Amino acid sequence: MGRVPGVHTRTRELLEALGITTVRDLVTHYPHQDRYRDVGELTTVADAVVGRAVTIVGTIRSWHVERARSRRMTIARASVVDGDGTSVDVPFFNQPWWPKKAPQGTQVAVSGVLQRYRKRLQLKNPKLVEFDPGDAASLEDGRIQPTYPATEGLSSGKLASLVGAALEALPEIEDHLPEVMRAQRGLMSLDAALRAIHRPASEDEAAHARNRLVYDELLCLQIGLQQRRHRLESSVVGLAQAPRTDGRAAALLDTLPFPLTDAQERATAGIGQDLASRKPMHRLLQGDVGSGKTVVAAWTMLTSVDHSRQAVLMAPTEVLAEQHFRTFTGLLAPLGVNVLDGPRVELLTGSMPVSRRRGLLAELAVGAIDILIGTHALLEEVVEFDDLGVVVVDEQHRFGVEHRTRLRDKRRDGHAPDVLVMTATPIPRSLALTFYGDLDVTVLDELPPGRTPVRTHVLASESSRRANLYRFVRERATAGERTYVVCPLVEESEDLPAASATKMHAELSQGVFSDLEVGLVHGRMPTADKDAVMEAFRRGDVQVLVATTVIEVGVDVPEATIMIIEDAQRFGISQLHQLRGRVGRGAGASHCVLFASEEDDNTRLNALAATTDGFRLAEVDLELRGEGSLFDTRQSGLPDLTLARLVRDVEWVAASREDARALVAADPDLIHHPRLADEVRRRYGDERLAALESG
Ligand code: ADP
Ligand code: MG
Repeated sequence: MGRVPGVHTRTRELLEALGITTVRDLVTHYPHQDRYRDVGELTTVADAVVGRAVTIVGTIRSWHVERARSRRMTIARASVVDGDGTSVDVPFFNQPWWPKKAPQGTQVAVSGVLQRYRKRLQLKNPKLVEFDPGDAASLEDGRIQPTYPATEGLSSGKLASLVGAALEALPEIEDHLPEVMRAQRGLMSLDAALRAIHRPASEDEAAHARNRLVYDELLCLQIGLQQRRHRLESSVVGLAQAPRTDGRAAALLDTLPFPLTDAQERATAGIGQDLASRKPMHRLLQGDVGSGKTVVAAWTMLTSVDHSRQAVLMAPTEVLAEQHFRTFTGLLAPLGVNVLDGPRVELLTGSMPVSRRRGLLAELAVGAIDILIGTHALLEEVVEFDDLGVVVVDEQHRFGVEHRTRLRDKRRDGHAPDVLVMTATPIPRSLALTFYGDLDVTVLDELPPGRTPVRTHVLASESSRRANLYRFVRERATAGERTYVVCPLVEESEDLPAASATKMHAELSQGVFSDLEVGLVHGRMPTADKDAVMEAFRRGDVQVLVATTVIEVGVDVPEATIMIIEDAQRFGISQLHQLRGRVGRGAGASHCVLFASEEDDNTRLNALAATTDGFRLAEVDLELRGEGSLFDTRQSGLPDLTLARLVRDVEWVAASREDARALVAADPDLIHHPRLADEVRRRYGDERLAALESG
């Protein structure tokens, strides 16, 4: 498709400002979705029904301009006479240019809803176009009119006629989608869809056309992702490490004080198959806070250890790495961890003494360490494994994709270890399938039994119930339970009027809780101090912990039952959900109190109070903030989708992914579908696809 034909230089410039330089750009400048306008049946005034949308063809007989009571409003009222000689009023509010634009005598087609007003007939919300008597047919198929994203100087109507002209001049557009695929999904041809989305015969047809184009967008993206994945997998051979029934992984499950949840069973079964296969595993384990991902990770790592290999787990912070280390040594204690012939588990962080670190690295390199847990420090060159079998990355969204790849590449013999990525950020499935398009996704969609859901309360900051709350906190502290108080800021700031942890700590420890131990933890403290406070809180020596969001991810203190968040409106939904996940980890009833000022819009907080389902909340978040809010789409490399909306189109996301997988599995380079291959390349180019790598 070439340049846009037959337009003036000025129009061309205006089009360029919209990013439209070619015919293709023009015909893919889609109208606003769900904003088609039904201009009604073409009829005469006499036959028109009051209350219905209609289009009348006629001649402008006169204009009458008046100023309304409130002086700022003008009404330009046309009297239009139809072919039968019957007249109808057409009032335009605050559009004083009309008499000049369509002077007396102009032939027009005007549409609107017919009304009776002061004993006269008028067309409400009128839309007026000049009418070419030689082209009456065009009105018939233009009943449903699109609205275009417009700019100054280039109205929606002007765009409609440019697009219309382009479509008319365009020969039938070749379809890049094979007929069978189209038929399978009940999709229109490309040619029909492109024409129908601009000039639908009905709103149904517009929706049908949209489906086809949405599918195209998503399919091309998924094909790109699947091709990448295919390339990654065909160039490397993975490790066959099937779970053993007599190994340590199996022993772990036997010694757990609880049975796995059904979701955990499904997850281990799926991961087990991946581990057994020589195809390298790339799997995302997604589960809300507390869903029990750690047990699944431990089992996965031990399965590799059962093959005399090593496993590594990378966490985003030292606090989390240390916690994982503690959890692992706890979980594996019955297997005799770190004694005699039990598995050897070690921790590697950036802040550990050099001599200790050197010793660890030496042991790691000869295979004396089975499981290594750590932070970014793991990525350094000097960290070498003897035989790395499994890589687990926790809280993936905090790491760049390249970190995962770097860990994987620590195996130098050309074989790829199996990779498991864990995230507690609940992502709607549609986003997961797209953002992690080349990962398999396992969801732990079930919490272990015996937990009481956290009750969430939204209170005004000045609420008199604060005193009651503090009384409750003291009561629970006496019973051995603990409370978090989270503030948005570390220190007070003049620029940002919000609660600060330092000030809150001073107030609480010297005031209402002077008889309790009140701790303070925030990101600007030295790691050792932070750890000491966290440890005291865990033990119960500190009962109230004032903190910033450093405690957001993964910190696990089962006795903590109250979460108080000050100025909660300053946090995002997913952040609040993560914070709330810090309580309700034991069997006792837990509470989350969100303080917010009364003036603010508390839609998000109320959503949070209404459900503890992280996936539901992620969807609310998407709806409220728009797509791309969960991830920085630029950082993710995710191409902008023009028509597709991941939440709304979740079924098309799944369908396109399924089709793309089948297609690429059978014909990786799309040799049998050259037109489709071209389309993928044209849309997403190799560079953008490379940026999408998440292997
Ligand atoms: P996540 O990492 O997904 O937030 P964890 O793995 O930390 O969750 O598990 C949360 C808590 O639930 C831990 O105390 C863990 O021991 C416990 N847990 C895990 N799986 C089960 C289960 N199947 N039944 C009962 N408790 C479980
Ligand atoms: Mg965890």
